[in-house]
Amino acid sequence: MEVKGHYKVLIIGSGPAGLTAAIYAARAELRPLVIEGLQPGGQLTITTEVENFPGFPEGILGPELMNRMHAQAEKFGTEFYFGTVTRVDFSKRPFEVEAEGSRFTADAVIIASGASARLLGLESEKRLMGRGLSACATCDGFFFKDKHVVVVGGGDSAMEEAIFLTKFAQRVTVIHRRDKLRASRIMQERAFQNPKIDFLWNKVVVDILGTPEEGVRGVRLKDTLTDQTMEFACEGVFLAIGHVPNTRIFEGQLELDDKGYIITQKGSTRTSVKGVFAAGDVQDSIYRQAVTAAGSGCMAALDAEHYLAELELEDHRNK
Ligand code: NAP
Repeated sequence: MEVKGHYKVLIIGSGPAGLTAAIYAARAELRPLVIEGLQPGGQLTITTEVENFPGFPEGILGPELMNRMHAQAEKFGTEFYFGTVTRVDFSKRPFEVEAEGSRFTADAVIIASGASARLLGLESEKRLMGRGLSACATCDGFFFKDKHVVVVGGGDSAMEEAIFLTKFAQRVTVIHRRDKLRASRIMQERAFQNPKIDFLWNKVVVDILGTPEEGVRGVRLKDTLTDQTMEFACEGVFLAIGHVPNTRIFEGQLELDDKGYIITQKGSTRTSVKGVFAAGDVQDSIYRQAVTAAGSGCMAALDAEHYLAELELEDHRNK
C-alpha cells in the first residue's frame, strides 16, 4: 500500500484530547494530521449541554464546543483525514498508521482514540440495538415520545440521560445494581426532583425482551439481594453503564492495563513506546472529563514537541 503522507505528528482521534493536541502541535508549526475516527468530535458530539467546561458560564452544546475546537485546530494548519485507524505499526520508525486503505507514516503519534459505551454483554443486545435499545439518549430519545423507557446505570451519565429522556418519554425508570447512586450530588438531586423519573434499586438486567421487528417490550431483572428474577415492562432501554477504552488496535504494541487503558508514565503522556503518546479517555479511567482530556491533549503535544526536538538533535549529531 502506497504511503499517502508523512507527518511529524499524527493524532488518532478528534475529541477534546485529540483536537487540543492538534491546536498545540499546529501552533508549534508541526503541521499535524488528525485521523478523525468513527465519531468525529468524540463523545461530546452526542451530549447536550456542557455546563462545566471553563469559559462558558451559560453552558455550551457539546457539538458546538467540538466544532469550535475543530475550527481552532484548522486555523493553525491542522490537516484532517476522515476515517478510522485499522492498523498501527509502532515497531519501526517512522511509525506506520493505516486508516481504511490509506497508509501514513509519522515521527510521533498521539493516541486520543477515547472510549465507547460499555454494553451488558447480552445476546439480546446485538439483536435489539437500534430497535428499542440504545446507548445514547441524545441520539435516540426523540423516538420514544410518550413511551416508558428504562435507563440502566447509577452514574452521572445515567442521570443525565434519564433527565434528558423526560423531554420525550412519559416515564423514565432508572435501574441500578446497588441502592446508592454513583452520580454527583447535583445530578442526583435533579433526577430525584424530576416527577417523571422513578428508581428500581438493587436490580441487574439479565435480558432485554423484544424482537427487532416489534422493538423492546421489557427487561428481565434479577434482584441482587434475593436473586429473584422478574419481568419489567418498558418500551425502550438506554444503557449508561460507563465506557471501555478504544484500544483494540494497540494490543501487543503498547502496554495496556488490565481494563485495556493505555499505560502512561507518571506525570507525562509517554507510553511504553518512545515517540508514542496517549491523551484523554484512552489512558484515563478516573477523571474522564472534557477539560481533563483537553489538558492531557496539551501535555501530549508538548511531550511530542520535546521528543521531536531531541530526535532532530540526535540526527544532527549522527551526521
Ligand atoms: P460511571 O461513573 O463509571 O458509572 C457507571 C454506572 O454504571 C455505575 O453506577 C455502575 O454501577 C454502573 N454499571 C457499570 N457496569 C455495570 C453493569 N455491567 N451492569 C449494571 N450496572 C453497571 O460512568 P458514567 O456515568 O458514564 O460517567 C463517567 C465519567 O463522566 C464520570 O467521571 C462522570 O462524573 C462524568 N460525567 C459527568 C457528567 C456531568 O458532569 N454532567 C455527565 C456524564 C458523565 P456502580 O455504581 O455499582 O459501579
